[in-house]
Formats: sequence, C-alpha cells, structure tokens
Amino acid sequence: MIDHLKVPRQMAQNAIQRTRKLGIVDDSFSIQNDAEYVLIPLIAGAVPEMEYPIVKAQGRPSRRKYQPMDTHGAFDVIGHIAITKIRNRVKAESLAQSLIKSNKSISTVYLDTGIQGEYRIRDLELLAGTDNPVAMYRENGVAMTVDVRKVYFSPRLATERMLVSKDVKDGEEILDMFAGIGPFSLNIARWHSCTVHAVDSNPDATFYMQQSIQLNRLAGIVIPHNADVEAALSELKGFHRIIMNLPHDSFRYIDIALEHLDQGGILHYYEILDIEKLEQRMEELRSRKMDLLQKRVVHGYSSRESMFALWLRKA
Ligand code: SAM
Repeated sequence: MIDHLKVPRQMAQNAIQRTRKLGIVDDSFSIQNDAEYVLIPLIAGAVPEMEYPIVKAQGRPSRRKYQPMDTHGAFDVIGHIAITKIRNRVKAESLAQSLIKSNKSISTVYLDTGIQGEYRIRDLELLAGTDNPVAMYRENGVAMTVDVRKVYFSPRLATERMLVSKDVKDGEEILDMFAGIGPFSLNIARWHSCTVHAVDSNPDATFYMQQSIQLNRLAGIVIPHNADVEAALSELKGFHRIIMNLPHDSFRYIDIALEHLDQGGILHYYEILDIEKLEQRMEELRSRKMDLLQKRVVHGYSSRESMFALWLRKA
C-alpha cells in the first residue's frame, strides 16, 4: 500500500499539474480513478500542503517501467535552461530557436560540446536566449540551484535518486562520495531523518549544495565536505550506505569505499560500461564479498556502453 492524494475528479487536472510541479508524483505507479475520485501516487514521505487527504491504496504499477528522464530526448532541461548535445550545428540551432519559441519556461539554450576534467564540467556554448547559467531546478519534491557552467549536474538521474531515497531507512549514516551539488544527498535527507556526508572536490559544487540545503525543509541532515574524497574519508568512520556516482572512474575508489562501509551496508555503485566490462566488474565486486541486490541500466551512453546502477550489500 502506498500513499495517494485523493482528489475529486473535477479537480484532478489541476491537482495533477500541481503535484507534478512539486515533483512528488511516483511515476512508477499509475494514477487511478473511479466515478468520483482520482488517486495520485505520491513518492515515499511526500507531504504536500494541499487541501486533499492522503490515503493508503494498493499501488498499480505503471506500464512504463522505471525510465530515466529524457533518455531519448535531444535535450535536457534544468530549470530555465535547455542543454543539447546535437552535433549538427544547423539542427542544434533550429532546435534551440523552436525551444525558445514554443516553451515559455525555457529562456536559455546551450550546446554541450564536451565534459572536462576532475570536476566533470560541461563546455557550454550559447545557442539561443540569454546567457544565464544559474538555474533553479526541482525534482522529487527537492529544490536545487546550480550553475551549469561551474558544476556537473544531470537531470537524467532523477528517477535513480528517487529509487535510492526510497530504499533508505531513518537513522542511517550515509556517504555520498562524489556529491556534486548533492542531489542524491538532498533527495535522501528531504524525506528521511538520517545524516548524509556529501563530499565533492569542486568548491562551486559545495557552494551550490549549501545554497540548496537552505532551499529545502529537510527531515535529515546533509553535511557538505569540500575535499578530495580520500582526504575527507581519513576523518570519517563507517557508514550504513555509500553512493559512488563517478561513472568514468568509480572503480578507482572501490577499496577505500568498502573500508568505510559497515558489514551489511549498501553500496550504490554507478559506472559506464559495455556488457563485457560489466561482467568483469561484477566478478571483481563479488570477489570483494559484495552481494548483488540490483543491476539496472540508468541511461544509454554510446552505441555499446550504458551507465549501470549496481546495488550491492557487504556480506
Ligand atoms: N552525484 C552528483 C550528481 O548526481 O549530480 C555529481 C556526480 S559528478 C558525475 C562527479 C562529481 O565528483 C563532480 O562534481 C566532481 O567534482 C567530483 N569529484 C571528482 N573526483 C573527486 C574526488 N577525487 N573527490 C571528491 N570529489 C570528486
């Protein structure tokens, strides 16, 4: 049984729009309706300040399986900013113009020409609209602010972050090793009374994380650490759960991560792999006494590679 917002049918359209805007609809379940009421499935712990009651009801799994957002789209949207990677210049400019004309909420369109360096920062070129890289963004009921020129951020992980947050129990001590502006940390602490240590070496990432912490009514605590993860870990002890989201380089840090994971603790491990490399990686993780709980594609990356989520438990 999961929480649903119970709304009279005649008010349903408005309520669906409002709950979607708040980012609290659980899209892994369908919206249900009968002659009088519509039931909108809510993500765990969501308490919308709305005039309708929250009721428990059997969730009806959506026929759309858990889908990363925008995987097949030609652009990502972060607040008022659209970012495209289309290589053909004419097509990219035409998309940018049509986005600005047809979508009132988009006022900036950038072309992403590549991700650079340790901080994984995008090279962005203005295609249309105003050059304003600081966005306000909302997912799963969490507000964030980010300068997309100074900090890595991808909205494509919104569903993954919701799934991780749903798996957390109150009271956990959690480490988010490559936290960026802290979207995993914030998605967790928004709904759970737990402590999340959020580490990132990019000072701008930590700055926007601190701003985003202020924007939300958190049930738990996020503690930002602006440091290299190895330095930060020298001062931190064991964790119930660790998130490793450095998809090109996560494995380099696996041993230090496992040293800091309690027995029975959960590891959310992300890496860009092809199928052969995936098999090898799972073998390497098994040999470190990690039991596989879940293996999923988060999104496609190239013709052969995808970003995989491996959820593992330390035996
Ligand atoms: N988890 C975030 C998210 O979902 O948006 C951001 C992940 S981003 C792919 C990786 C982040 O790791 C970047 O913000 C980068 O600055 C940080 N990073 C890279 N190497 C690091 C290191 N050795 N120690 C701490 N942070 C690091």
